[in-house]
Amino acid sequence: MPYYPRPMDKLIGELTKLPGIGPKTGQRLAFHILGLNKSEVESLARAIVEAKENINYCSRCNDLTADDPCKICRSPDRERSLLCVVESSKDVIAMEKTGEYNGLYHVLHGSISPMDGVGPEDIEIDNLMPRIEKGEIEEIILATDPNAEGDATAMYLAKLLKPLGIKVTRIAHGLPVGGDLEYADEVTLSKALEGRREL
Ligand SMILES: [Zn+2]
Repeated sequence: MPYYPRPMDKLIGELTKLPGIGPKTGQRLAFHILGLNKSEVESLARAIVEAKENINYCSRCNDLTADDPCKICRSPDRERSLLCVVESSKDVIAMEKTGEYNGLYHVLHGSISPMDGVGPEDIEIDNLMPRIEKGEIEEIILATDPNAEGDATAMYLAKLLKPLGIKVTRIAHGLPVGGDLEYADEVTLSKALEGRREL
């Protein structure tokens, strides 16, 4: 893009590194940002830096949080015998939106994908076993995505967890196959949770 002054080029370059932002959208956003007044731009830049500086992972469940442990892990109102395993923080939000789940979570931050060389050591499971060994958890709901990677991850975890004598369930496949949990609507996700079966 030799048509723009260098700083503009750089801004478009950074924006197009974001997911879902192509050159055209990058250009549109860059023009929009340049049209803002200085304090608006500073507020946007600060929000990005502050989010990065202040949001970390919960040491118990791995969810994104500003405080450790996170709000859900700390809450006295959550059902502590239920643990729902999901791939990402976005999935926690999707589950929370159903209003049907009141247990705890464990966020894997990924899924096993042998085709892409992603193994169990590449997802966040190290702090899962100590939580289970505490003995409070009675059922683990495997709510990984309904696609090949999500299924492979659920199978791996089931094998690991079942010998511990805990009930291990997988959410039902009312979800669009090959899909993403975070994009399922609340009714579909509630039904999938309701129809979970034991592995
Ligand atoms: Zn937590």
